Amino acid sequence: MPADSVNVIVLGAGVSGLTTAHSLLSHYSVSPQNAIKKLNITIVAKHLPGDINQTEYCSPQAGANWRSFQPELNQHAKWDKVAFERFLEIARESPESGVKRFPMRLVFGDDDERRQRDQLWFADLAGGIVDVPKHELPEGTWGVDMVTFMFNPVVYCNWLYASLMKRGVKVIRRSYDHIDSLLSDFPDTAAVFNCTGLGARHLGGVEDGKVHPTKGQTILLSEPKVPLERMYIWTQPSVMGPNEFSHVFPRPLGGGVIIGGVALHNDWDESFDVSRVDRIKQRACQLAPELGKPEDLQIVRHNVGLRPSRDGGPRVEIEEHNGKFLIHNYGVGGSGYQSSWGMAEHAVALFAQKVGLSIQQAKLYSVTYND
Ligand code: FAD
Repeated sequence: MPADSVNVIVLGAGVSGLTTAHSLLSHYSVSPQNAIKKLNITIVAKHLPGDINQTEYCSPQAGANWRSFQPELNQHAKWDKVAFERFLEIARESPESGVKRFPMRLVFGDDDERRQRDQLWFADLAGGIVDVPKHELPEGTWGVDMVTFMFNPVVYCNWLYASLMKRGVKVIRRSYDHIDSLLSDFPDTAAVFNCTGLGARHLGGVEDGKVHPTKGQTILLSEPKVPLERMYIWTQPSVMGPNEFSHVFPRPLGGGVIIGGVALHNDWDESFDVSRVDRIKQRACQLAPELGKPEDLQIVRHNVGLRPSRDGGPRVEIEEHNGKFLIHNYGVGGSGYQSSWGMAEHAVALFAQKVGLSIQQAKLYSVTYND
């Protein structure tokens, strides 16, 4: 479908939608041979960067860091890898983005060390791992140090957003209950990228019943006087149960320290569970003794966020809907930042194949997609 000018809508302005818009723009601009002479992008969303404490808008509620959850280099892990490579560039070239290359300590229960070690497929990507001396760890655990990324989610999403504005992307704050209502308001649109996160469950024309929330709960702390030298993640289900873990994330650029570790599937309750607060604080101080004692932590805010999860994993697919392309990029759950560039590139690649956009992803990144 070669055309001189193509209008595209990105529905959703969380990290998935914002990254998709960037990905579209960058492939368009690196491809002077494109059949498309002009690409007009409009972001339509109920919530936009700057909105915080809206549980249905997950992106500002994230920790956030890069730590792939994938046990091997599967499709999702490839998305994570693409994002890792892109974040290397962003952290180096744009420190104001709120993305920072930062040391990470992963701590595990020592009951299943061999399996956990085998699953660290990203050790080389991160530049190698080093075993942590036992005396620096909670009893009954083992751990490794490596270097990945810390994000200040609010700063990062605003940075993505501002740079899109600078490049001519339009924004409309509006909520739609059906894809067809959106298309009837924008009849000249060739394609809609559906980046609605949890919204995909109820959005007419999509109504994906596999989408569900995974509730998270965090505490924002003041920064300690001596800055933390690393981030920490401790997973040990045999001790903490299946729905809890522990993390300490010192966010860059004045983002404070985020502690937490709650993952409750299918829990739509937006309230903060006070009974978890002591456990979150105690584990954080055990993990990062430099925080001091639990009673000395200065709490700035309690947060609840609903991760947009999906049974079977995220949906990155293209379909035709009433003569338009509908490209889905949602359902990323707890890895929206660390998978963002990979999923966006994949979604854009699916669209590009249809419209003759000569993308150069194989040259930009070391990963290609199967679809
Ligand atoms: P969202 O940010 O929820 O955005 C959805 C967008 O769609 C919004 O703009 C919304 O207004 C719009 N929308 C929805 N429906 C409609 C509609 N009908 N009409 C118009 N607009 C609509 N990820 C990491 O990678 N690393 C981490 O360390 C990490 N930590 C986390 C910690 C917590 C406590 C939580 C809660 C999440 C964490 N995440 C982390 C996950 C990450 O935050 C999410 O994966 C990510 O924010 C999902 O982004 P999204 O753009 O898909 O969805």
